[in-house]
Amino acid sequence: MGFATRVAMSFGGVKPGDFRKILIYNKDRVFSFVLPLGYVTDEWYANAAGAINWGFPTIADTPIPEILPTGICTYEHVVSNIPHDKIVAKAIEVRGLKVTVSQVPIPTGFGPAFEGERIRKGEWYLECGGGFTPMVEWVTSKRMDEVEDGKFEVIGPEITDMPSESRLPLAIVVEVAGREMQPDYEPILERQIHHQINYIQGCFHNGQRDIAWLRVSKELYNKGFRLYHIGAVLHAALHQNFSRIFDKLQVKLYTEEDKVKEMLAKARQVYAVRDARIEGMTDEGTDLYYSCTLCQSFAPSHVCTISPERTGLCGSYNWMDCKAAYEINPTGPNQPVPKGEIIDAKLGQWKGVNEFLFKASRGKFDHYNFYSVVHDPMTTCGCCECVAAILPLCNGVMTVNREFTEMTPCGMKFTTLAGTIGGGLSTPGFVGHSKYNICQRKFIIGDGGIKRMVWMPKMLKEEIADRLKARAIEVGVPDLPDMIADETVGTTEEEILPFLQEKGHPALTMEPII
Ligand code: SF4
Repeated sequence: MGFATRVAMSFGGVKPGDFRKILIYNKDRVFSFVLPLGYVTDEWYANAAGAINWGFPTIADTPIPEILPTGICTYEHVVSNIPHDKIVAKAIEVRGLKVTVSQVPIPTGFGPAFEGERIRKGEWYLECGGGFTPMVEWVTSKRMDEVEDGKFEVIGPEITDMPSESRLPLAIVVEVAGREMQPDYEPILERQIHHQINYIQGCFHNGQRDIAWLRVSKELYNKGFRLYHIGAVLHAALHQNFSRIFDKLQVKLYTEEDKVKEMLAKARQVYAVRDARIEGMTDEGTDLYYSCTLCQSFAPSHVCTISPERTGLCGSYNWMDCKAAYEINPTGPNQPVPKGEIIDAKLGQWKGVNEFLFKASRGKFDHYNFYSVVHDPMTTCGCCECVAAILPLCNGVMTVNREFTEMTPCGMKFTTLAGTIGGGLSTPGFVGHSKYNICQRKFIIGDGGIKRMVWMPKMLKEEIADRLKARAIEVGVPDLPDMIADETVGTTEEEILPFLQEKGHPALTMEPII
């Protein structure tokens, strides 16, 4: 404590005798704590109590009286009866120490230089997700005592148990705990999984949530990369960038189909709750939207602008998530965008958004519309959950989700659609969007809204059934879900048109779509 006093005076410029400033300096900058082991005498206890005046808490292994309320120290003052196997982690937690992993412990390169790397057919050793196997990524908060910082487990077969060019189901479950952690921060950490895995040289990652896709190259496997290294990467990178909001992180990688499906079901329940947080908010109700430029590493001119009624096209970020992301990282990819003067209320275009777009796309785009697929739609990147396309013969719009791998009535499969328009382009007639967005009130409202929807895959219709039904009632066409064709009706415009006519689909009597 004498040394700490001198540190405050030498490095902090605190004058001798200014005990208050010495306390504040040490509390904020000198991460010491007292660790009395064994029987604590009265003299020890008095010394430990004195240490509180330097901001240093005491963590004891014997049942001495605790002083739990915070006040002088960052957190508790005296915490007792902690078993030896937990005492180091407890001391780190009570002192508010933040873990930093300066070097990512993996046998390959790591960094933004490797982002966007493609691993093609014939080059991969292992493939997970991508519509071939179930895959899910989920960040969830836990209690402090439930998380062991830096623990990575592969539950099920490791990559070494598989021959080359194998496919595995995969659930990446990241469990975090922290005094500042809030459920609102989970999606922000979760979206980082895509980002950080792509930094691994020899790894390809696309998508998010339950539509993720991972490829590990043969070269990377031969260098010694194993699935648990994904845990090491996430531990190091998330601690480095987000240690302000959490203290401990452990990663579980499930590779058995049953377990993956179990995690998938749990994660989907959480996704629904997260999405529903913006129900009731309207675009008119706020002057501030948020940008997201996280995907510019793949699609350099792509700029998502996220409003309450236009969620991010990857499905990972809604307006609330962006707001929380900005609070955590004010210089990050989610910036507030004052929408400014309205240019077109029907199509959804604002002066402030256009100005931001021009700068963020580095001059590539000077405007786009939030609520239209026909007229200068928002830019699309390859992460989108769905792609909507106009069907001129049916006077309507179709949409297809990433998981549906068959042909669609616009003459293209999802992969071709995403590959064609997904490079950060604004392509009239096509637009990427999230599944959730389909039943939001502003979805392509500039083109007629949900009443234009004439085709979508059966699996997507089933997935959003409840919300679609509610939206159909809201727009005065309660039978709309039954009027929307799917692949069982047909996969060409000519095949689905008679069905739409028979059902009396409202799109057929709307003004021409083009
Ligand atoms: Fe952000 Fe849009 Fe990429 Fe989602 S798709 S991470 S919202 S830029």
